[in-house]
Amino acid sequence: MEKTIPYKIYLEESEMPQQWYNVRADMKKKPAPILNPATLKPVTVEELEPIFCTELAKQELDDTTPYFDIPEEIRSFYRMYRPSPLVRAYCLEKKLDTPAHIYYKFEGNNTSGSHKLNSAIAQAYYAKKQGLKGVTTETGAGQWGTALSMACSYFDLDCQVYMVKCSYEQKPFRREVMRTYGAKVTPSPSMTTEIGKKINAEFPGTTGSLGCAISEAVEAATTQEGYRYVLGSVLSQVLLHQSVIGLEAISALKKYDVKADIVIGCAGGGSNLGGLISPFVGEILRGENEYKIIAVEPASCPSLTRGKYAYDFCDTGKVCPLAKMYTLGSGFIPSANHAGGLRYHGMSSVVSELYDQGLLEARSVEQTSVFEAAQQFARVEGILPAPESSHAIKVAIDEALKCKETGEEKNIVFGLTGTGYFDMVAYQKFNDGEMGDYIPTDEELEKSFASLPNV
Ligand SMILES: *Cc1c(COP(=O)(O)O)cnc(C)c1O
Repeated sequence: MEKTIPYKIYLEESEMPQQWYNVRADMKKKPAPILNPATLKPVTVEELEPIFCTELAKQELDDTTPYFDIPEEIRSFYRMYRPSPLVRAYCLEKKLDTPAHIYYKFEGNNTSGSHKLNSAIAQAYYAKKQGLKGVTTETGAGQWGTALSMACSYFDLDCQVYMVKCSYEQKPFRREVMRTYGAKVTPSPSMTTEIGKKINAEFPGTTGSLGCAISEAVEAATTQEGYRYVLGSVLSQVLLHQSVIGLEAISALKKYDVKADIVIGCAGGGSNLGGLISPFVGEILRGENEYKIIAVEPASCPSLTRGKYAYDFCDTGKVCPLAKMYTLGSGFIPSANHAGGLRYHGMSSVVSELYDQGLLEARSVEQTSVFEAAQQFARVEGILPAPESSHAIKVAIDEALKCKETGEEKNIVFGLTGTGYFDMVAYQKFNDGEMGDYIPTDEELEKSFASLPNV
């Protein structure tokens, strides 16, 4: 007899993963190595050490170790908000009148309001273990900065956050959460770094970009004794830490003998998507199972669906290593009316390579349709989703409606990465009917591609 599936599938604390899973180990063709921009040779741990914590630099370059033990200090922090529930979206299914079964892995149950805490606590732990004074980082919408400030206060580390200027001004409450946890928050581009001064001089009045804030944070880390730079997405180490999402999702599904058919995640830099899908992709790569995997990105920042697979700079100031990824060019800045997050110009090199190998498909969606999906979800499932997460909701709904047409009882799993309480200006625009869509023209993209380095 089929077991009745509860609304929320909780795992026991003891069922929380003991190890992170590194999907690169199971990939026959590995992601292209990151390159030193000066020599164009693959970077070494020694070259990364002045920027990253040593242990994290090792994780970054490790393509072969399938599992990494999660240190007990990190697990004990995880216990405060993990395992996170896998929720059966019964109410949404009913509303859509679909035979599909919809599940979402909810990562918004912590103060940072997103999955980013999973990696923030790991990165703060390794910085502390190395005896550092503090870390520097950038934040766009503010979720990463918030997560990192929480993690740093837990391990008593100094936390310096360069926040993209338009968010700093539009999201004062995010800023105050970070300051409450003890972080120092500087709007970027600032006049506190050489690169910030240069960008301000070149583009007077600019409201900043993620790529530019990254450059400032890296400079701040390398010019202060006892500091390193940490990043909340894109990097392979971040995907490794985020694998707890997918590992828990698989364990929860197994409890009720459910086999996922479709796995969906939103894609900005690729960390939640990579973390959610890694264990599923591992099963595909080892020939154990088949899944349809879908990455969802904004039509206004379409790196997978319209970008080039090429080596590119990870930041505007071109101080970071070069990564081979699907990219729109490091100078790409999404249109000002884009509200939904996921605005990074590139994509995790792991996700990019998996996409290139055909292991996942990608879709781009327009922001008004994303907010319509968010509203529909909020009204029946009770959670007010982050706009980023709502990209995944949109495609989960699309897939469930296809099942309605075909009568198929597919199991759809998507990542609900966070809550949207700090995105009420965007929701307000949507509610007032003032939200528009913007899709960059081919011409605009070509202009941006012209800045790709010749590697
Ligand atoms: C940062 C963030 C994302 C996008 O980042 P990825 O690295 O692509 O996962 C998605 N959802 C939420 C709630 C976020 O905070």
